[in-house]
Amino acid sequence: MKTEIIKVSLDSIDILKKGAKLIREGELVAIPTETVYGLGANAYDSEACKRIFEAKGRPGDNPLIVHIQSPEQAEEISVTNSLYYKLAKRFMPGALTIILPKKPIIPDTVTAGLDSVAIRCPENEIARKLIELSERPIAAPSANSSGKPSPTTAKHVFDDLQGKIPLILDGGECRVGVESTVIKITENSIVLLRPGEITVEMLKEVCDNVTVASAVKEELKANEKPLSPGMKYKHYAPKASLYLIDDRYIDFIKFAKDKQENENCAIMCYNEEIELLEKKNLLPVGKREDIKMQTHNLFILLRKADDLGVDTVYAHLPSDEGESLAIYNRMIRACAHHVLGGINGKG
Ligand code: AMP
Ligand code: MG
Repeated sequence: MKTEIIKVSLDSIDILKKGAKLIREGELVAIPTETVYGLGANAYDSEACKRIFEAKGRPGDNPLIVHIQSPEQAEEISVTNSLYYKLAKRFMPGALTIILPKKPIIPDTVTAGLDSVAIRCPENEIARKLIELSERPIAAPSANSSGKPSPTTAKHVFDDLQGKIPLILDGGECRVGVESTVIKITENSIVLLRPGEITVEMLKEVCDNVTVASAVKEELKANEKPLSPGMKYKHYAPKASLYLIDDRYIDFIKFAKDKQENENCAIMCYNEEIELLEKKNLLPVGKREDIKMQTHNLFILLRKADDLGVDTVYAHLPSDEGESLAIYNRMIRACAHHVLGGINGKG
């Protein structure tokens, strides 16, 4: 199959109509969103959704997120509650995925047989327009090969899925750079399953009872049943081994310079550190305090590390608080919990 990449904007109505037609016909279309690129299919078409799993090599027990055009469209597919609408008012459209009890119209392929469905109304207007033109919700996980860092450009999608899907809609670089915040809710409680742009602190402004699933920060224990199937898979792994340096206990610059001299490695550093390190294989993530930029750059740089052909990558252990929790969660899983230095150091 030939994979076409077409640049889109909100004005490219003919191209969006072409995408919507493919979705209605049961084909797969890669879609820009504000978080990462999604691999979309008609959420009501079980066969089409099966193709998502095949194209990505995604385990069949890891459910998909269903994208809707407006918060109210959740009524078609799920049993909503008052907290859903409070959250929708504050955060939709946006980078928040909410898990609710599902209605029968959603096929088991989408939810991997669970009785709940994950719902998101994306901020990206191209994505919403495509859902509108498709006249049905679009199931879409990240448009990468399973296990690779999520794609934040159309080229990333092409690198992973060329020959497997007919169309990639190129809406430019994704604004956020990591996947949406995923929460499971009841009428009066929220459990955070995956951190993203919408932080715990922001959720607490809407609901007093917010807890964070332990797997967000820690390794799943042997035989522990994950609250979200995605938690049990090693995600976001670069080919090189990634190590995180706890710079409260290790002098990062001294450590990194030594590695640069003795190993075929790349260093993910803060912009302020560029001048202090050898110029070879440096992957600057942004300024130390600029968490938004670091989030934006994270998957781009993990993919670059692969292109460099290095054996190891060293990076700062990010903070696990506030906006930085999303980076912490991705990095700690990409490095398989290999942290050097500090009380948690296992390296
Ligand atoms: P992705 O679309 O690739 O960003 O992954 C979607 C994430 O949402 C995965 O971690 C899934 O396990 C999780 N997810 C989707 N639906 C559900 C659900 N019904 N219950 C719990 N987690 C879910
Ligand atoms: Mg994914």
